[in-house]
Amino acid sequence: MVRVRFAPSPTGPLHMGGVRTALFNYLFAKSKGGKMILRIEDTDQTRFVEGAEEFIIESLEWCGIKFDEGIKEGGDFGPYRQSNRREIYERHAEILIENQSVYMAFDSAEDLDKLRAEAEANGKTFVYNYETRKSLKNSLALSKEEVSELLANKTPYVLRFKMPENRIIELHDEIRGDIKFNSNELDDKVLMKTDGLPTYHLANIVDDHLMEISHVIRGEEWLPSLALHYLLYEAFGWTVPKFAHLPLILKPSGKGKLSKRDGDQLGFPVFPIQWKSGEEIFRGYREDGYLPEAFINMLALLGWNPGTEQEIFSMDELIQAFSLDRVGKSASRFSPDKAKWFNHQYLSQKSGEEIAESYKKILDEKNINYSALPIVKICEMLKERLNFIHDLWDESFFFFQAPKTYDEKFLKKAYKEDTSELLNKLVELLKNQENFNAQEIENLVKTWLETEEIGFGKLMSPFRLALVGEGKGPHVFDIIEILGKEESIKRILALIEFVDNK
Ligand code: GLU
Repeated sequence: MVRVRFAPSPTGPLHMGGVRTALFNYLFAKSKGGKMILRIEDTDQTRFVEGAEEFIIESLEWCGIKFDEGIKEGGDFGPYRQSNRREIYERHAEILIENQSVYMAFDSAEDLDKLRAEAEANGKTFVYNYETRKSLKNSLALSKEEVSELLANKTPYVLRFKMPENRIIELHDEIRGDIKFNSNELDDKVLMKTDGLPTYHLANIVDDHLMEISHVIRGEEWLPSLALHYLLYEAFGWTVPKFAHLPLILKPSGKGKLSKRDGDQLGFPVFPIQWKSGEEIFRGYREDGYLPEAFINMLALLGWNPGTEQEIFSMDELIQAFSLDRVGKSASRFSPDKAKWFNHQYLSQKSGEEIAESYKKILDEKNINYSALPIVKICEMLKERLNFIHDLWDESFFFFQAPKTYDEKFLKKAYKEDTSELLNKLVELLKNQENFNAQEIENLVKTWLETEEIGFGKLMSPFRLALVGEGKGPHVFDIIEILGKEESIKRILALIEFVDNK
């Protein structure tokens, strides 16, 4: 039975790298008919951030990543919040004390700071390890009496893992293959803190075992901890789950890991949804107008590839296609342009009705009266031009309001001496047209221009200018069909008058 977990720490908002980890876990679980679990790793009380847990849950909900077990869903392996599992960790720490995999370390924070400063002064780094522990304030170096006295005096202590000396630890990662570590390069990590709460390492291993996690899929930054984790499984006498460490996501420049601050500096969102911290607001994909399907599709291809040219995948298609052996070892570069491209693809697949629903909200906010206009038709016509729903206004404002000014440059280029005369003739032609349908008017105008031997461009540029006020927009005949006869004629006459009065 495949069981995977996403195990965030609520120490801040989840960024897109974290969402990708959750996504790959989800895709893997669902592709194997397994279970996906949400476990909140909140044993570090000093780094707790108000609202972070809610942010994580809301973000993943928006993305469509669902959990089978978790703090909201419940399940047979709970509690799913580590701060509610204190007693479980205490019990397991006892096992490690008993089999001497850990020792008590009484060194105070000041003692350790001093050691660090001394080492630094000599150009070295202080490490609490198999060597230094021999002369520090711990139950391995001190006599039994000294330890008893410290305990009798209630001296605070931590439990440290007793890293074996000079052992080659052989590990396996599903993405990176076989890896070796020499234990001498590793330090004696704290497993239980003075506050009686476990550190990440202990709580994480105990929970992965008790929750029967079969595959640990997480970010590459946890790879250096893997040797310790293997040794902890060994100390408990437990079977090691399978591990897969996902490659990093790089900044758009390709230089360095994508960080939480990059979004503001480089102008794109890094968080799935907006995060507010005091006065500061960090952009979110949701608020920036991305569709969750597009965001997820983009993330899936950061580190995973289907082995084909296919780029557009629904969540179900991703589940079908996903496998860990198509996750690469090397870091992938995030491209904000590609993110927009995905959004464009998904928007253009939407129906006019769906887009219109969202667009009406924007129009309402702008206090625009659209009751007389065929909004669905407008959305259908323009959807190929959009990266975001909010781009619609820029593409369609002229349907809702007649031009108040005209683009100077375009006017100069498009409006010649005989243009007013030409436009007046056009007005006459349109006046007599009963059926105001794009195709019919186009035929009518084209036949007229041909018989009069007038170039198409000569008329079309000022015609567009009259309707839109600029040189842009969709097909002119599509515009007048929507505007209708009266409004179109009014706009043509307004341009003629504007030019006459100049
Ligand atoms: N709580 C860790 C984190 O915040 C979990 C790491 C893991 O998945 O083992 O990333």
